[in-house]
This record gives sequence, C-alpha cells and structure tokens, in this order.
Amino acid sequence: MKEQIDTIPLNDAFDSGDECPFCWLERKAEHSTIRYVAGPGASYMEPDVRAATDDAGFCGTHLKKLYDYGNTLGSALMLQTHMTGLLQDFRNGMEKFEIPAKRSIFAKKPVNTEETWWQRLRHRQERCFICERTEYHMARYYHTFFVMLADPQFREKVEHSKGFCLRHFAQLMDLAQEQLPNAQREWFYPVVMKLTEDNLVRVKEDLDWLIAKYDYRNTKADWKNSRDALPRTMEKLQGLHPADPPYKSE
Ligand SMILES: [Zn+2]
Ligand SMILES: [Zn+2]
Repeated sequence: MKEQIDTIPLNDAFDSGDECPFCWLERKAEHSTIRYVAGPGASYMEPDVRAATDDAGFCGTHLKKLYDYGNTLGSALMLQTHMTGLLQDFRNGMEKFEIPAKRSIFAKKPVNTEETWWQRLRHRQERCFICERTEYHMARYYHTFFVMLADPQFREKVEHSKGFCLRHFAQLMDLAQEQLPNAQREWFYPVVMKLTEDNLVRVKEDLDWLIAKYDYRNTKADWKNSRDALPRTMEKLQGLHPADPPYKSE
C-alpha cells in the first residue's frame, strides 16, 4: 500500500481498544504537535515555525495544555512575539476608532454589518496553531482510512472495533460522501452506523450499571465494566479523554 507510513498508526488505532480510534489518533497527533512546538527540538526558535505560531496563536484548550506541558521559557517566547503582533493590531484598531452615536431602535439607517476591529481581533484569536496542525494530520488519517477499506482484513478490524465517538462519526460520514470509493459504500454505511449504535448502547449500559452500583442493594454486586463508564461516556459524546493526566515534557 502506498501510504505505508500512515497505515501503521491506523492499524494501531483500531487495535488500541479505545472507544474511538479517531480520538486515539487525534490525541497522538495533538501530543506530537505539542512536543513539536514546545518540546526538545525547540522548533519555536525556527523562524518559519515562529511566524506560524505568531500568526495563529493558540486556543484556550491548547494554552492550558502548553502550560501543563511545562516548557515555561519556550511558551513564554512564543507568546511574547504573538502578543507583540496582537498589540500592533490593537493599536491600529484604536487609532482608526471613532466614537459611534448610540443606535436608536427606530433608526431607518441599516445596521452597519462591517466587522469592528475588536471582532477582527477576536476572530484572529479563535485560530490555533495546535488545532490547525492536528486537523492537518487528521485529514491525512481519514484519507488513509478510506484507502485502507479496500483491504478485507482491515474492514474486519473495523467491524471488531468499539465504534466511534459522535464527533468523529459525523466527521467520518461527512468525508465519506467525497472520499469513500464506490466499491465500499454498500459495506460502509450499514456497518459504520450499526457499529456506532451498538457501541453507544454498550457504553450507555455501562453507565446505567455505574448508577445502579450506587444503590445500597448492589454494593456487593460486581462492577462489571462500569468503573470507568463516566470518562468513556464523555469520550463517546464529545471525543475526549477526560481521565488523561496532563501531557508533560519528559
Ligand atoms: Zn472520536
Ligand atoms: Zn487549539
């Protein structure tokens, strides 16, 4: 297979036993991006990488993950130059600003829909270097997944997996419209939908049993698979691993 390098992580993901192989891949891509940007390779000192982090910045989730990762100087340097750029935009906005009159609710003039400078600044802040790079890796994994479906052995592996979280299920269905080869369509839609449903039911039953275990009549009963039903339910709903410890630099 052409994309040999990407087939290995795909196989690993479907062998992992994770509640969603794409969550597993996403975590792997996210960690490698955090390590790339703030890790021992010190990519943040390379001008092209710094230009990219200056431009995109980081979302709230990834600022927290950068903080937890623990490279204080590296993160500080990235935020220093990123903030310099934002401050420049801030000043440009302030300079051109004119105090507006209070808008009357009876005004006939149409509402000015042009973006204000603080909205532009906010939109810029909604970007994130780590999200964007992770999404780039995920796009490649999805592409490889659809190519690999031609292999009956891989299809069997998918059938024996624990299905997908709702976030990645929807993404998979969206991308299948364009990327899924015709030869796999008859297999893909019924299998993926049934697999996802069956496994949502399984996790829901684990959650039901977790709740039932709090009933004093069940104190002595076996936990079955319900001990970690809460984080696994959270994963199925939103595609996250809430029980993960912070990812730290080694
Ligand atoms: Zn997922
Ligand atoms: Zn992010």
